[in-house]
Parts: sequence; structure tokens; C-alpha cells
Amino acid sequence: MTGLSDSFQRPINYLRISVTDRCNLRCVYCMPVSGVCPLSHDDILRYEEINTVAKAAAEMGIDKIRLTGGEPLVRAGLPELVGMLASIETIDDISLTTNGTLLAKYAAELKSAGLNRVNISLDSLKPERFQSITRSDSHLEDALEGIEAARGVGLEPVKLNTVVIPSVNDDEVLDFAAKTINEEWHVRFIELMPLTGETKTPQFVSASDMKKKIEKLGELEPCLPSVGNGPAKYFRLPDARGTIGFITPVSEHFCFNCNRLRLTADGKLRPCLLSDYEVDLKQPLRQGVSSEGLKKLIEEAVANKPLQHHMAEGQVPRQRPFSQVGG
Ligand code: SAM
Ligand code: SF4
Repeated sequence: MTGLSDSFQRPINYLRISVTDRCNLRCVYCMPVSGVCPLSHDDILRYEEINTVAKAAAEMGIDKIRLTGGEPLVRAGLPELVGMLASIETIDDISLTTNGTLLAKYAAELKSAGLNRVNISLDSLKPERFQSITRSDSHLEDALEGIEAARGVGLEPVKLNTVVIPSVNDDEVLDFAAKTINEEWHVRFIELMPLTGETKTPQFVSASDMKKKIEKLGELEPCLPSVGNGPAKYFRLPDARGTIGFITPVSEHFCFNCNRLRLTADGKLRPCLLSDYEVDLKQPLRQGVSSEGLKKLIEEAVANKPLQHHMAEGQVPRQRPFSQVGG
């Protein structure tokens, strides 16, 4: 293993793989209500192809993989892919980001295939609001069952991702925070990024405003994450069993620590979520590229990883919806 670093000396060891652009929900900040024109079956990388990319990346120094989407659990046979990735010796952490609504059905199978842990996106604890944010007929209960199922089979720590949307769910910041006191909930509040498929983009609620609200419940003590060293900054309320994290892509970017590459569902390698630059791997894979050739393409993507995003200046990716890149 050589170890991979970009032109700004950032070590790159984390690959986020979007396994599908499809989703059973239509979250207001992520997808247009009509959905997006889905990629065809043939456009999507096959599991064997994803595994080939992961193996080459692992030989270069990638040791953490996250599966995301769209909703990864709408793609058939996901445990099969987890099993393939888990058999790559140098991959030491495989995680999944999911909306949780289908997780109860698959949690045990994913765990035995080698999945280590899950992040579950949950933006409301109110059943009707859950449906209006997700613009679906899925139920809050389904996501809550997903959380319990993940815990039950040991896909831990279960982290919850909550995107805070002004005038939609910002009144629930305290309710989510209060949950961390008596239960082992690890809630991460995410600032809303202006990437929505809808034309009218709401403002965001900053992490510092969220903190001010939460401190009504007690002082927030900084603490270390239970696992990983991602962009969230973690805190704990006095004597709380769980933790509260803040992810601040808008008010305070964390690009200087970014260790990520992203593989889109249709086989493009993206060194930055918020830039349209990408390197195609699908065509070379289908033309029988060698492992060395694949590694050169991975190096090319890494070499072009930008220093930071420019969301504040209005530069957001135009060519794809967020659901295709994988958040
Ligand atoms: N469907 C899965 C889920 O919802 O967890 C995985 C894909 S989703 C695109 C990944 C994450 O991106 C979710 O936690 C979601 O809340 C977050 N996300 C999507 N659009 C966002 C936005 N405009 N701003 C901040 N986070 C966003
Ligand atoms: Fe689907 Fe996740 Fe996007 Fe919601 S955030 S629409 S669950 S991909």
C-alpha cells in the first residue's frame, strides 16, 4: 500500500460509493418532487465493477468505505456488495447512509455480510411532518423501526443525521437534543446546503444558532466522536447518554481536512461533492482497463481535488442532483 494524498498533502483514505440514484423518498432539500430521471440499469455500475474499483482504491490506501445513494436499500442485493467489500483485507470500516425506512428488513443480513455501522437520516420526530418533508407515504415508524433494528443487530454506533430546515423543522432541534439525554442517540445536525432540486432555496440555520437553542437544556461539553474522525464536532449535554454533533458545510467549511473521494452510481469518480469535476471509470472498466490503468485514473481524480468548495460564492454542482452524487 502506497498511501494516497492530494496536491495539498491531504491524506485520502475514504471512498463514498453511491450505489443508486433512485430513492423511495423525495426529501424537499434533495430531490425535485417529480424525482429525477433515473439512470438506466445499464448506466449503473454493477456490483462486480464497484468491487473492482474498491479493490484498486484499497491497494492505493483507501481503508474506509461508505455506501450511500439515492437510497442504497432500494437497490436489490446490497448485502451481496457488502460481502464483496468486506472481503477486501485492508478495508477496515464499511458503513451505510440510509433513510432507514427499509432497514428493519435488511439490518441482520447486512450485519452478517460485514457492514460495521449505519447513519440514518431523520429530520422529524412528528409523523405528519416526516411525511411532508419526505413527500412520501413512508412512515416515521418505519424509520424508527430501522433505528431499533440497527441497534438490535449491533450496527453501532447508530448516528442520526438531521438536516435543519428553517421554518420547517428548526423547532425540533430541542426535541432531538433532548433525546440524547436518556437514550444513546448520536444526533448530528447538518446545515442545509443550497443544492435542492427545487428552484426556491431556503436560508440555512447555522450551527451556532442551533447551539444557542440547545444550551437551554444545559451546557454543551465538547467530546470526542464515538467512532471515526469525520467533519462533525461533537458535544454532550450534562450526564447525557448520547451525543450531539454539528456538521457545518455552510457556516464553517471543513475542506482542509477532507479525506474523501466519491464514486457516483454511474461510475464517475468525484474528488469533491460540491464541484462538477469527475473522472469516468465506467467506460474504461467496460473496456477491460487493467488494475494499473484504473489506479492512474484514481490518481488523476485525486490530483484534481480542489482545495475547497465555493458554495458561499454561489458555486454549487449544476450537472447532477445531490441524490446522484451521494451526500
Ligand atoms: N438516502 C440516504 C439518506 O437519506 O440518508 C442516503 C443519501 S442522502 C443524499 C445522504 C445525506 O445527504 C442525508 O443525510 C441527507 O440528509 C443529506 N442531504 C441531502 N441533501 C442535502 C442538503 N441540501 N443539505 C444538507 N444535507 C443534505
Ligand atoms: Fe432520498 Fe436520502 Fe435524498 Fe431523502 S436525502 S430524497 S432519502 S436520497
